[in-house]
Amino acid sequence: MLENLNNEQRLAVETTDGPLLVLSGAGTGKTRVLTTRIAYILNNGLAAPWQILALTFTNKAANEMKNRLGQMGGGAWSAADIWCGTFHSVCLRILRYNCDRVGLRRDFLVFGEDDQKAVLKSIFAEMALDPKEYSPATWVEKISMIKDKGLDAAAHLGGRMGEIYDAYNAELARLNAVDFGDIILRVLELFQNAPDVLERYQRQFHYILVDEFQDTNSAQMQFLTMLTPAGGAQNICCVGDDDQSIYSWRGAEIKHILNFDQTYENAQIIRLETNYRSTANILGAANSLIRHNSGRLGKDLHPAPGMDAGEAVYVLTVPTDWDEARAIADTITRNADNKYNDFAILIRAGSLSRLFEEEFTSRGIPYRLIGATKFYDRMEIRDAIAYLRLLAHPFDDLSFLRVIAKPRRGFGPSAIAKIRGFGPNLMAGLRAAPLSGKQRVAADEFLAAFDFSWDTMRPADAAQTLLEQSGYMKMWRDSRDVDAPERIENIRELITNVISKYDTMAEFLEHAALMMTDDNDTESPSDTNAVSIMTIHAAKGLEFNTVFLPGWEDGIFPNEMAINDGSLEEERRLAYVAVTRGRVRVVISNAMSRMVFGERKYNAPSRFISEMDPAFLTFQGVGMGAMRTLNTRGITQSYGNAPRRSAPRSENLVGKLVLHTEMGRGVIIEVDGDILTIAFRERGIKKVARQFVQISK
Ligand code: ATP
Ligand code: MG
Repeated sequence: MLENLNNEQRLAVETTDGPLLVLSGAGTGKTRVLTTRIAYILNNGLAAPWQILALTFTNKAANEMKNRLGQMGGGAWSAADIWCGTFHSVCLRILRYNCDRVGLRRDFLVFGEDDQKAVLKSIFAEMALDPKEYSPATWVEKISMIKDKGLDAAAHLGGRMGEIYDAYNAELARLNAVDFGDIILRVLELFQNAPDVLERYQRQFHYILVDEFQDTNSAQMQFLTMLTPAGGAQNICCVGDDDQSIYSWRGAEIKHILNFDQTYENAQIIRLETNYRSTANILGAANSLIRHNSGRLGKDLHPAPGMDAGEAVYVLTVPTDWDEARAIADTITRNADNKYNDFAILIRAGSLSRLFEEEFTSRGIPYRLIGATKFYDRMEIRDAIAYLRLLAHPFDDLSFLRVIAKPRRGFGPSAIAKIRGFGPNLMAGLRAAPLSGKQRVAADEFLAAFDFSWDTMRPADAAQTLLEQSGYMKMWRDSRDVDAPERIENIRELITNVISKYDTMAEFLEHAALMMTDDNDTESPSDTNAVSIMTIHAAKGLEFNTVFLPGWEDGIFPNEMAINDGSLEEERRLAYVAVTRGRVRVVISNAMSRMVFGERKYNAPSRFISEMDPAFLTFQGVGMGAMRTLNTRGITQSYGNAPRRSAPRSENLVGKLVLHTEMGRGVIIEVDGDILTIAFRERGIKKVARQFVQISK
């Protein structure tokens, strides 16, 4: 087991006692160290599986870790017993177990963003606040920002802010619900108010391990420090990379990694400097990019001994976003050899996925979309889950409001207001309210749909029954909506591929609640033979043989907001994460024109391209003017040849936009002294002397 590690990695595995921070760059084996460390602890009998708490950043990563560990134990222990999961899934488990100590009933609900917005909307209406000024979406964000700060953050919220915050939480309490931020915050409150509970967990977890530590928020950090009090063993091992901190918009704070040795006085710090993932060229490009950030610890990162320089990183310039999708699809077709899961397309924003989906579908390239379109964000999936929530929890008024109108049953706002007074919740009110003939019939039909012994059935069968009896499926079957067949298909998928995996409805609903907020797919990309399309954020910690990085244009990546408010450093870290996902081949591309929200935009190539040392790059224009022959030219062809290296030069003009009085706009793809090779949008590729063009800064 230890033989597969270098000396520093081995030291990190064997240093089991006391606080330890492993601080190192991408692909240096941090995750491998964590996994091996757990196996080491268990194989040496230092702890039982349930005494180990391993925190990963996604459910997907947790599953992968458990799978690996399953193979490492040789049957002596079971990886399933390890407390391994995201902060949220672990805290939810603690909260569920101790719900009576925090004033929640056992079957409490976890609200997703939709639910949160609905609650806020009703509060704003009640407080008579102007809906133009008070947007539920903005307030969902504000409230989660406060909760991510942990204990005491809300203590000093005076004024309107405090009023809304309190009213919102009171409404959640009334509905026996928590939101995503609460999952951690309520555990912190539990630990604070019930020292016996805290002590129990402090005693239970002999070893705590945290992956992707750079993206921990303050509430999560408090959770860790409460479990590892001063004077105790403090066997906590955190691994991370300050250059890969990309979640500040969700409350992650880089200071936790920077101050680790202040939080834990006798902390040891181990640095790993060998990258085992990528070729020297990929690594060189990534290093030269991240060097432009100033607020960093600064780390050395070397390619593994014996690692090839490999192909240079390709920088592809194409006329339009369509050409980009075609060029990439082309390259995959020619190189896939039926191993589609070697490829990933990593996008800055979910909206960039559509062209790839269309292109891949028409060519029959299998792909999977991860984290971009969220299955659980689809209307029909949310409807179906609301039905099931209401089945399991008749008190769930939000779900009631969502489904009572699907299909329409003649209960508008005034009817709802009327029944509200006749019971502790809307379901009970509907039963008891004196309603007129037609409404009574509709109400009874609705109530009857829920009246069957669902809790003795398989949850998938119960779901099927409810969605049929309630008329929900019929609503879509009768619908002339063009999306209706797809929606029916999605519900079928939910029932047969997801719900059927669960033994109880409660377990499924718990899973659904996490999925709706965590935007994670639990399957790992290596499971299916398909190209992965995902956001860069979702690709953290993963690796692929070939990585395509489309849309490297100013305004897209870095995005407009980052350019305008000067928050380029986090954006650059994101670019660094993107490039370092590649093992053998990285293809960056930029389109000279692109449709963005229905408008044609002409963006300059990303400034990140010109920030990278050209010694590691090779520039190519594809599909330009006379060269509009994607099948025979361009990167698909040059893959067979030795990569072309651009000679290093003092001024990096490659990638710059130019204007030529006759030939119009273009982009520089090669520089040879004063002779520039330019890909003109209209005229194709031409060599032009530098003095004849105007070069944009
Ligand atoms: P990231 O920062 O992207 O999360 P990481 O530091 O967690 O990366 P790993 O994913 O653990 O790095 O490792 C990167 C790759 O290098 C993996 O394929 C891993 O199996 C391999 N690897 C790690 N250590 C070694 C080693 N000592 N010898 C050979 N391969 C290694
Ligand atoms: Mg990792």
